[in-house]
Amino acid sequence: MGFNNTQLTGRVIYQGDPGYDEAVLNWNPYVNTLPLVFVFAQNACDVSNAIKWARENDVPLRIRSGRHALDKDLSVVKGGIVIDTGDMNQFHLDKRKHIATVQPGIRVGPLVKALAREGFMAVFGDSPSVGIGGITTGGGFGVLSRSIGLISDNLLALETVDAQGNILKANPACNKDLFWASRGGGGGTFGYNTEYTFKVHRAPETATVFDIVWPWEQLETAFRAWQNLMPFVDERLGSYMEILSKVNGLCHVSGLFLGSRPELTQILQPLLNAGTPTNVVIETLFYPDCIDFLDPPDPIADQNFKFSSAWSKNLWQDEPISIMKQFLEEAPGTESNFYFTNWGGAISRVPKDKTAFYWRSPLFYTEWNATWIDPSEEASSLASVESVRQQLKPYVVGSYVNVPDENIENFGSAYWGTNFARLQRVKAKYDPENIFNHPQSVPPSC
Ligand SMILES: Cc1cc2nc3c(=O)[nH]c(=O)nc-3n(C[C@H](O)[C@H](O)[C@H](O)COP(=O)(O)OP(=O)(O)OC[C@H]3O[C@@H](n4cnc5c(N)ncnc54)[C@H](O)[C@@H]3O)c2cc1C
Repeated sequence: MGFNNTQLTGRVIYQGDPGYDEAVLNWNPYVNTLPLVFVFAQNACDVSNAIKWARENDVPLRIRSGRHALDKDLSVVKGGIVIDTGDMNQFHLDKRKHIATVQPGIRVGPLVKALAREGFMAVFGDSPSVGIGGITTGGGFGVLSRSIGLISDNLLALETVDAQGNILKANPACNKDLFWASRGGGGGTFGYNTEYTFKVHRAPETATVFDIVWPWEQLETAFRAWQNLMPFVDERLGSYMEILSKVNGLCHVSGLFLGSRPELTQILQPLLNAGTPTNVVIETLFYPDCIDFLDPPDPIADQNFKFSSAWSKNLWQDEPISIMKQFLEEAPGTESNFYFTNWGGAISRVPKDKTAFYWRSPLFYTEWNATWIDPSEEASSLASVESVRQQLKPYVVGSYVNVPDENIENFGSAYWGTNFARLQRVKAKYDPENIFNHPQSVPPSC
């Protein structure tokens, strides 16, 4: 670039410095690697300086916020610079306008819990420690999404730093193509985001949570009842089903209903009558307590995880169910899992080209993962997740960019369907040299 004098600013930690060993830790140990330097940015200028420094010194770069990336080299890079927004974790709520201005380093749990205490709700998922920085860019869903949409559907504006180090605003009036791409186009590709502005919603005083547990052996009965009910129910009801490996033995359905206990109990009858549940909790709680019920603390994982994900447009018949069952029967890892969540409602009312998030019309979302501790089990664990992906292909569509899988070669159409070409054009405009890249970032169009 013809000059070579930008200094790194912020909290800078090189290999060998105090704090480096903590900085390398991510939620999923499988993705850990050894970068040259971490820059814990305190503001957008620190992010800008780090981008310029990386370019001047020809060092690969990544952006990281909540450290929950699920595959390798997305938010960290060996020998490179990792710009981490984890110290930028403040937010401001405008109660009159129902708007929250949020720094990307805050985690979902502290944000939605603080909003709830002020009487507002925003989408949250199944882990409080996921970073707002990453989840927003890929969509972001949880049990409220059928009521109020994806996290990215509630994004009104953002501040981002482009590949030249310029600090930009993006919203429906300014850099609107960048704003379109930032709502579902995935992280680390279009800009390194330093502030999000979200619409938030008035929370009810109370809501109803539930959890139903079955003996693991009844997974098929429970799953059939779940899929026959949940994609079609009242959209105030968001639900997920988790079936862990046989060695773990947990098979349960949880969720949140923005209504009363008697109403929910009525809706849940087909599930309650399926098999012989061993534990049933249906409780109306103050709204902030609902979040605590569904989002208990989620410490950094002590196992390695490999995920893949997809959606289903049809109810599963015998074949996909037996693929799932066989995987769970054979998986040696205690946290190996199949996970489902019901789709529809507010998610499906947004046209698929209105934002970059494409998969709006399926019945349900699914992801599956293998876990292992012993390195000797890594290869077989990775192979088992890939084998399920291959076997499920006839029964599912797409894949969720926030639960990425680097085995997917045609990741552009898998993550973004027909929105992929437009994303490539936005990339060509804002980062034609593909400075912001990782194994599954959007490449610029030629
Ligand atoms: C335990 C767990 C539970 C989860 N539950 C849900 C769920 O319920 N719903 C859901 O939708 N997803 C869920 N996810 C997936 C989650 O949305 C992704 O893992 C998300 O990318 C994590 O973001 P992060 O900031 O924590 O991760 P990071 O590792 O920091 O970043 C992940 C990706 O986002 C990019 N990125 C991070 N910060 C920025 C930024 N400031 N600007 C631009 N790009 C950025 C990174 O470059 C990287 O590509 C879950 C993941 C885990 C591990």
